[in-house]
Amino acid sequence: MKTPIASLSIAARATLDMHSLNNEGGEGNQIQTRMVDIVDHKGELHNVNAISGDMLKHVLMEHFYQQARAQHLSLCLSCQSFNANRINADKDFIKRTEKEKVSDADFIDQMLQTCAIDDVAGILVTEKRSLPRKSITEFGWVLGLPGKVSTNSYFHAKYVAERSVEKRAEDADNQKTGANLGQSIFHRPASSGIYAIVCHLELSRIGYNDIKQIYAIDEAERQHRASLLLESVLYTFIELNGAMRSSQLPHLVALEGVITTSTGVMPAPLISPLIGGDDSNIYREQVQSIASALNGNNGEQVKVNTFDTISDFATQMRTLIDSSSPFELAIGR
Ligand SMILES: [Zn+2]
Repeated sequence: MKTPIASLSIAARATLDMHSLNNEGGEGNQIQTRMVDIVDHKGELHNVNAISGDMLKHVLMEHFYQQARAQHLSLCLSCQSFNANRINADKDFIKRTEKEKVSDADFIDQMLQTCAIDDVAGILVTEKRSLPRKSITEFGWVLGLPGKVSTNSYFHAKYVAERSVEKRAEDADNQKTGANLGQSIFHRPASSGIYAIVCHLELSRIGYNDIKQIYAIDEAERQHRASLLLESVLYTFIELNGAMRSSQLPHLVALEGVITTSTGVMPAPLISPLIGGDDSNIYREQVQSIASALNGNNGEQVKVNTFDTISDFATQMRTLIDSSSPFELAIGR
């Protein structure tokens, strides 16, 4: 018997060393990393290194896409080649639904039946109509903890073996076309520190048509998509894809945090792991208290699982994947 889960939240602190997962571009031969302004729990302003939520959501969907392909989940023509435009770029689907004058409510039904990625990642349909599908998955910015993260710029060189006068003149000529074949130097940033991560999944809405307030796909398909989504969340945390991994694969040194689940319409509580600053237990204790307050005397609809290591997190996610099913919302009429 599987436990139905309506929503799931993860608040975590990850220690990452020498990564360059999110860069915002370059000036000359200097690559720049992403820095943002945040306010800590005491009201103090800090400028810290950060990785955007877009990056994490992209990583999650890459993992989901690979599994969906391997396990033959239904995907639209566009998502079959991992096109970020999703169903908007499935010309056949868009043309047919326009020709048949399909209503917005029926369009959502057909989209959910056609594509697991449009279902769980969401999309704003802009082709021939304007129709939003709210994402099942949500990620916040990954933020460096004030005083616990450092970024430096490192010198690198690209060497070429042949350095004769003729070859250098030829390379200089090619430089004008942007071919960049000559020897060159460049600076690349790397950051190390403790980062705060927040993630929320609304599993009850998998396959749910928000206009008709009914499910567009059957229970078995919902279960399949939910399991692959949870599996992809696990992969995202243990294999942080992103920029510059070919030579700056991040060192994930530590991972600790809290997973909350709700077995009903009560929300799975999520607060920022930035809370507490140097004390890494405060946000977890607060989540525990919030869960007790939400549950009151009515059993344990909200459950809290804390983890202290990377393997602890993986084990808990595995248990959740194997023992849960997506909660079914009451169907509207
Ligand atoms: Zn799609």
